[in-house]
Amino acid sequence: MNVLLINPQNTGYYYKLGAFYPPLGMAYISSYLKKHGHNVKMVDMNAERFNYKDFDYSQFELVGISTDTVRFPLVVDISRYVKKCNVPLVLGGPHAAADYERILRDNIADYVVFGEGEIPTCQLASELEKGNRYPELDGLAYSKDGSIVSKKQDFIKDLDNLPFPDRDGLPLNNYKSRFDKNPATSIITSRGCPFNCEFCSASQFMGMRWRKRSNESVLEEIKLLVKKYGYKSIIFFDDNFTLDPKRAIDISEKILKNDLKISWWAFSRADEVVYNEEMLEALSRAGCKMLFIGFENINDEILEEFNKKLSASIASSVVEKLKKFNIDTFASFIMGGLKDTKDNVVKNMKFAKKLGAEIVQFSILTPYPGTRLFTKLKDKLFKKSYEYYDGTHLVFQHPNFNSSQLRRLFMRAYYYIYTEPKKLFKRGLPFFWRMVTSTTKNKIRYPLEVYPDIKQS
Ligand code: SF4
Repeated sequence: MNVLLINPQNTGYYYKLGAFYPPLGMAYISSYLKKHGHNVKMVDMNAERFNYKDFDYSQFELVGISTDTVRFPLVVDISRYVKKCNVPLVLGGPHAAADYERILRDNIADYVVFGEGEIPTCQLASELEKGNRYPELDGLAYSKDGSIVSKKQDFIKDLDNLPFPDRDGLPLNNYKSRFDKNPATSIITSRGCPFNCEFCSASQFMGMRWRKRSNESVLEEIKLLVKKYGYKSIIFFDDNFTLDPKRAIDISEKILKNDLKISWWAFSRADEVVYNEEMLEALSRAGCKMLFIGFENINDEILEEFNKKLSASIASSVVEKLKKFNIDTFASFIMGGLKDTKDNVVKNMKFAKKLGAEIVQFSILTPYPGTRLFTKLKDKLFKKSYEYYDGTHLVFQHPNFNSSQLRRLFMRAYYYIYTEPKKLFKRGLPFFWRMVTSTTKNKIRYPLEVYPDIKQS
């Protein structure tokens, strides 16, 4: 079967900050489909021109689009054009899984896949090929005779069974991200997260059981990135790369032993860094130049509200430990927890500046559909369109802020951090400029109103 997969253009926070990498989720689905005999064309709207309003979708027998919340209005628009060509449309991604009933009821798509898309998308393609429009498949939902048929699926137990993502099907030369002065690309070595933080969809969408690829398989893919594609910098896009310190050490040793000479960064957690000097030493020797740490807040009550299972007291020692091993800190803070106040935001800003992290990121607490935070706040949402669900806008009625107050504090926090001379010259100017321009000039508007009954503040 001929399948078209589309990664809609991103307007979210990380994209605004310049993180712009091949969409590996889509590339995994593509390689899985190809392995099972299907023909796949991928379009990444972040990396290539794609006039979705004037495209002949009828060359394909199935169209798949992945969506998170901020891109959902665009996906709704694309879906109108796919449907005009009478081609079956399947949506996947965190937002589709969270909002599947409405998507099917409103006929935005014919099918929704839950969680990991590889197997249900591939099985759906095979069933459609046989003429079966309503297959009963794990991980698939659709509407039939006015009722929603849905079956959840188990998470993939052995990730080594998946082929490597189909990078050759993407316009690799169009991804311009660099790290440590070299062109950089991404890899995913594990899925899921056991911590279940209230605001994060990782545990809901990919499961609370952390599933890891074998170290050998990871090494093989890194070798491919270095030797076949020529990358010297890599980003481990796992939700939590250092959850198993022994594994992180082993992967680092394999990188060294194979003389791969890469520089890389990864997502980690404060507690994993503070209590694992041996791991930091191994990571550093293997080329780790930066770890992303979600400190989130310096107020323990707010950390508890987020279910972060961390104490703010370890934040300073995280940066000290990382500095000891020449690893930069990418520190992330969230403002707008329900117990947050203006004084506390200012305290966080001052703390973030004193912390000595090389990159500091602030975001505004956002209840993304599919998270536990969304369930808690769904009656308090006032922003009418999902375009605001980008981590830079307050979208719910907060006890202590209105949206413009928090937005001003958000911009002030960036200004406060990135106008410091050291940061301004090292990373600040481009980083701060991107933040300011993207949050003030982003005029993209989509017509969908998702909460029409709720008054705009
Ligand atoms: S924020 Fe990090 S630690 Fe918490 S659930 Fe998400 S990935 Fe896991």
